[in-house]
Amino acid sequence: MRSLAGSPEAPCSRCGARTAGLALGDRCPACNRQLRRRASRLAGRISLLATMLVAVYVYFRMPPVRWLRIYGAIAVLATYVLVRQIVSRVAFEVFARETETGGES
Ligand SMILES: [Zn+2]
Repeated sequence: MRSLAGSPEAPCSRCGARTAGLALGDRCPACNRQLRRRASRLAGRISLLATMLVAVYVYFRMPPVRWLRIYGAIAVLATYVLVRQIVSRVAFEVFARETETGGES
């Protein structure tokens, strides 16, 4: 459902700007960009915190064996990547929902 017959442009569900090719209830590209930036900033902060916690845990709890240290480092890196992706995805959805204008939901 890209467009309704007779209405080539629909208002953005967030800022209300009329944009051609927008489906009813969608956000305009500018709003999507802004939401993604906000979500990415938050994700960066949270993932950094989570990574530091895991790094501290690994540092103090892992025995000083070389191959265990390597696994620990991999776990720390994986924490950063995964937490960042998950938080940014979730934050995008949450921000998108809380700034929605209009609508009956
Ligand atoms: Zn917009």
